[in-house]
Parts: sequence; C-alpha cells; structure tokens
Amino acid sequence: SFALEGKKVWVAGHRGMAGAAIVRRLEREACEVITVGRDRVDLRRQADVEDWMAEARPDLVFVAAATVGGILANSTRPAEFLYDNLMIETNIIHGAHRAGVKKLVFMGSSCIYPRLAEQPMREDALLTGPLEPTNEWYAIAKIAGIKLCQAYRRQYGCDFISAMPTNLYGLHDNFDLQGGHVAAALLAKIHRAKVEGLPFVEMWGTGSPKREFLFADDLADGLVFLARHYSDEPHVNLGTGTEVSIRALAELIRDVVGYQGEFRFDTSKPDGSPRKLMDVSRMAAMGWNAPTDLRDGFAITYRWFLENVDRGG
Ligand code: GDP
Repeated sequence: SFALEGKKVWVAGHRGMAGAAIVRRLEREACEVITVGRDRVDLRRQADVEDWMAEARPDLVFVAAATVGGILANSTRPAEFLYDNLMIETNIIHGAHRAGVKKLVFMGSSCIYPRLAEQPMREDALLTGPLEPTNEWYAIAKIAGIKLCQAYRRQYGCDFISAMPTNLYGLHDNFDLQGGHVAAALLAKIHRAKVEGLPFVEMWGTGSPKREFLFADDLADGLVFLARHYSDEPHVNLGTGTEVSIRALAELIRDVVGYQGEFRFDTSKPDGSPRKLMDVSRMAAMGWNAPTDLRDGFAITYRWFLENVDRGG
C-alpha cells in the first residue's frame, strides 16, 4: 500500500467540487497538499504543466481537473468538452511520467459506459456498445484518460490508477441553472421558487430517468482509499450502488429546502441516459462503502449553499 505520510500531493482542479473535497479530505493526513491557480498554469498547455510539475515535484497527483457540466452544457459545447479534457489529462499524465510521480489517481465518469449497458454497470462494460449521445464528447475524453493510465503502466511501469465516480453533488458544485448538473440545478431552482413564492418548478425531461448520486466528500474519501490501497490496471467504480428517479430526487430536495410547490416537466428537453447505476462490488470487496445518506448529504449541501452562494435566501 502507498503511504501518504510526508508525501507531496498535487490536487489538480482544487477549485472544483471534487478537487475541493479532496483537499479537505487530505487535511486529515500527514501529507503536504499543493495546488496551483489557473492564472499561473493553464492545464490545457503542455509547457505550463510540464514546467510546473518539474518545479513542484509532487509524489502523488489527483486528476480532478476537467471541463464539466450538465446535460445541456455537454451537448451544446462538444468541442470544449472533448478538447479541454483530452489536453488536461494528457498533459498531466505524461507530465507525471516525466516528473517521476510515484502515484497518480485519474478521475473519470460513469458516462464512459454504453448507453444501454446492463445495470448495474460493471467495470468491464467499458467499450462494449455505443455511448449516450448527449455526453459522448466528455465520455470519449475520459475513456482516453483511462487508457493513458493503463498505457503508461504497461510501457513505463507507472503506478497510475483510474476511478469512475457516478453523478456527484456537494459543496462547491456549479449551481448555474443552465450549465450545472441536475442535483445542483434543482437545488438552486427549488430554493429560488421557495424564496420567490412560485407555485411550480420547471424540470427538464420526463423525470423518469434514474441516476445515482455520490456526495463529493465521500468521493474524496474513496479516492484517498484507492490511492493508498489500489495499484492495478482496471479502473474502479465509485458510487453508492443505489439509484433514484429524477422526480424522486426533486421531491427529496423539495423536502430539504422546505418548498411547498409542484413540479412541471418540459419534455422538449432531453432525458439523457435512461439509467446509470454503478456496480460498486469491486470497492465493497476492498472494504469501502459510501458513508453519507442522500438526505443528509443534501441537507449539508443546502446549508453550504445558503451560507456561500445565496446569502439572501
Ligand atoms: P447526466 O446525468 O449526464 O444526464 O446529466 P445531468 O446531471 O445534467 O442530469 C440530467 C438528467 O436530469 C436528465 O434526465 C434531465 O432531463 C434531468 N433534469 C431535470 N431537470 C434538470 C435541470 O434543471 N438541470 C439538469 N442539468 N438536468 C435536469
């Protein structure tokens, strides 16, 4: 197993929801966390990344940097989702090899699996069928990231591993109504409807697709667990193993926010994948399960939202 004690750990993407959670989680370890701002290093520029890594010399790297977004952002900005993510991961993974990084944890996504993969989705469902069209650009980039880690392990013996988280929610999420993922967008929309006394909230799609939601702090805990205990070629799913319909998610958030109104469904907006449930038995067999209950996680997230995003509410 990999010891964190005394190690220099670079969290790439520390301003995002996942990266911020990893930084918080590492505060409990006897390691040194390093981060670098976007103003200094543009992760899409190879020279920026290689110069920074040569100077910083991290022992361990978490690749939590990515261009991300919800179903609308993913389907309307295909070039950014493909180009940015390919560049970011290629620069960091190749840079890590050149800088002699001892361990690297790459973060992907459950959208790497085929749209109609057997549910729950096992790790070996990768590349067995066509992808969901609304996020195939992001998925292709993340599949390339998995393959980069595997290739550098095979050719150069690098201890680079990959984890595939399910849909995430938590502190520092993007609460933008157009660009955000469903959990954050619904929290912000339902909060606003409550504050403004609106009779209903408009949802995209039919409300019947099912999704699995992992609290970002649980994700961070799982990634640190893998950094310590996992050192192999196959990628590993990170999730809760339970799913809810989008409608049930909206009702749960309505309870947490304390909103009395109704939901209306705009079926001109896409549903995306019908289901995306992770098979989490590989993590469970290693002794890790996501600790935070969905309702508790949303209560923590809503409190944070009130204190940090919408202080007027
Ligand atoms: P996905 O999991 O990759 O499909 O992306 P999202 O996190 O954006 O979740 C999309 C699912 O939530 C789709 O079934 C949408 O139709 C549904 N949804 C309902 N309302 C909203 C909303 O306000 N924003 C987003 N992003 N999705 C919504």
